[in-house]
Amino acid sequence: MRDVEPGELLVADQDGLRSERFATGPRASCLFEHVYIARPDSLIGGQRVQQVRQAFGALLARQSPVPADVVVAVPDTARAAALGYAQAAGIDYGEGLIRNHYLGRTFLRPTDERRRDDVRLKLNPVPEVVRGRRVVLVDDSLVRATSMRHAVGLLRKAGAAEVHVRIASATISWPCYFGVDISSQDELAGHHMTTGEIAVHVGADSLAFLSTEGMREAVGGEPTLCMGCFTGLYPTSVPAGAPAPPASARTATPPGRTPPPAR
Ligand code: SF4
Repeated sequence: MRDVEPGELLVADQDGLRSERFATGPRASCLFEHVYIARPDSLIGGQRVQQVRQAFGALLARQSPVPADVVVAVPDTARAAALGYAQAAGIDYGEGLIRNHYLGRTFLRPTDERRRDDVRLKLNPVPEVVRGRRVVLVDDSLVRATSMRHAVGLLRKAGAAEVHVRIASATISWPCYFGVDISSQDELAGHHMTTGEIAVHVGADSLAFLSTEGMREAVGGEPTLCMGCFTGLYPTSVPAGAPAPPASARTATPPGRTPPPAR
């Protein structure tokens, strides 16, 4: 019927259905919902997540093109972005990696060991799709780079001639203080490595991220977004001792938002 608003409590009891407010104040919806968390058939702020993810991929193709023969998604959450990349670039889309559906999401695992085990079990390559071909491998986001390193290795073992990694979101370099279990900042590949270093680390021929401007454009210029894990700029105050964003990010504070103070 409609979204349950942030800070809204819907009560259904013997008197029927009523809406109550338990919080008020500025709103900011989570951009990572569009990137990874939400089901692709969800509507967020009137936008279909599948379409937004395709737009992320199309913008990424325009920002970071590369000569290639096939576009492959890291399944399943990157499928829409990979499709958008393939359509915008005019390159074939192929199912070069197949996911084992009996496992959950590896980035939520509590330990590196569990994540490594899961990553090994999670994906299988399809050699017929990638053998001898230049592959663009699209993922929705890059957190620790563990899964990506494994995926690139699988494609190379399956005979891919080149593997170019394209990430359909900006670099995640900052923690989330609002309940999304991304990681501690030290574990984030985007925090302790440059883009070039990540490319070397995962074994890719090239690697590129979508820009934060591209993400904002794909969600239709939504004015009240939280992009904190991408920019270090949060819509509310953050805990004392939180890392401060670089000066360049602080000067780029979007209207209506306050960067955390330098520490
Ligand atoms: S920091 Fe903001 S955009 Fe990132 S996961 Fe948390 S709520 Fe979402």
